[in-house]
Amino acid sequence: MAFDKRKPGLGTTADLDRILGGGPLNRLYSARWTLLVLSVGLLWIAIQGDGEIWRAGAILVAVLLATMFLPRRRKVTRLKAKVEARRRAIVPDVSMRKLTAALPDPCFILDRRGIVRFANKAGSSIFGNVKEGDPLSFRIRQPDMLAALDNVLDGGPIEKVEYTLRSHSERFYEAWVTPIHLNSEPDGSERPEFILLLLHDQTEQKNMARMRADFVANASHELRTPLASVIGFIETLQGPAKDDDTARERFLGIMLYQAERMSRLVSDLLSLSRIEMRAHVLPDTRVDVSKILRHVIDSLSPLASDLEVAIEAEDLNEELWVAGDRDELVQVFENLVENALKYGKDGEKVAISYSQIVDPTDSKPYYAFNVKDYGPGISQEHLPRLTERFYRVDVASSREQKGTGLGLAIVKHILTRHRGKLLVESKPGEGATFQVRLPVSISSDL
Ligand code: ADP
Repeated sequence: MAFDKRKPGLGTTADLDRILGGGPLNRLYSARWTLLVLSVGLLWIAIQGDGEIWRAGAILVAVLLATMFLPRRRKVTRLKAKVEARRRAIVPDVSMRKLTAALPDPCFILDRRGIVRFANKAGSSIFGNVKEGDPLSFRIRQPDMLAALDNVLDGGPIEKVEYTLRSHSERFYEAWVTPIHLNSEPDGSERPEFILLLLHDQTEQKNMARMRADFVANASHELRTPLASVIGFIETLQGPAKDDDTARERFLGIMLYQAERMSRLVSDLLSLSRIEMRAHVLPDTRVDVSKILRHVIDSLSPLASDLEVAIEAEDLNEELWVAGDRDELVQVFENLVENALKYGKDGEKVAISYSQIVDPTDSKPYYAFNVKDYGPGISQEHLPRLTERFYRVDVASSREQKGTGLGLAIVKHILTRHRGKLLVESKPGEGATFQVRLPVSISSDL
């Protein structure tokens, strides 16, 4: 990096002598004409007066001494200003540092040689404990960031570069390199006294953009497969199987199945986007979850008897009030009980229970509702990813069960809106327990 090697002086005695124009004899020489006129004047006054030449001589000596040794005011003031300007060029002033310290993003003030002169709290830890006086180039490897710093140090305009920090996880930053010119009159080189380096964390936005792109790709893939199948069968029915009654019956059945699959997918996608739109709006009604659970059990009992699974629910006569949207909470429990019936049907039983707990993370009272099945369970590595959109442990079994891969994502979004939580416990071969936690609501809450 082309950092400046010049070391600006800080106003030592030598600086003072140089700026004041050398030693006492030099000063005497500079004032020679003034002194000559003064001497002649004093001599004339002495001769005209009572002849006391020694008095005129004493005045002259005093003037000479003053000329030689008394500091000259204007030059001293100028010197002070110069020294101050030089000091300011390597030490950022208090307000600049205070402002930088107040910023939440990692932020550095570098001098014109690229040396760190101030790093705020976020900044000093980001590159592994950067200290004042360290050249920042030692910590940065990325060539375009080094080039941006170089350009700005050489008097270039503000630059923005993307910076990726690779430590235990990857973080993405937008790095702004801004020149700071303190003097209204630049020193000719137009090089800034300082550089402000601000790193703006873009990791969340990048991840969101990536997730959005993945989501669109997944959603279109999910829709494209049944759509391609429907188109294929229509073409066959128009062409080779035109007069084949048996084939027509079979193909129409498959087309209906695929069309229903698309319809389920579209309705789940719409649900998800509706919930997302209201993600930050807290529910403004109170609902009794006992009632909701009774309704869900009633509506899923035909499916349970088809699958020959018994739903065993704890006594649901107690009122369990939470702040919630009824339809959304029905959707939560329907998805969980339906999954337990479908994926856990081998266990032949689904148990629904509840209790009141105090959540250790926020010490608040919650109702914890458990939906437990006795099926094959889910192995550990899948558990953290179950609520991701389109994530399925086994795609074939999900399709077979008419799943879209969006059910648990919907559950998670609804619970987030309700300030609730979803916990999953499972071991392969021992079934799975999905626990919904919802904050207990007392009548004065809403
Ligand atoms: P799907 O529409 O595929 O059911 P979900 O989001 O509801 O999507 O569930 C995601 C995946 O989680 C399912 O495909 C299934 O593999 C797994 N899963 C969910 N519930 C259970 C359960 N009770 N037992 C075993 N696996 C389950």
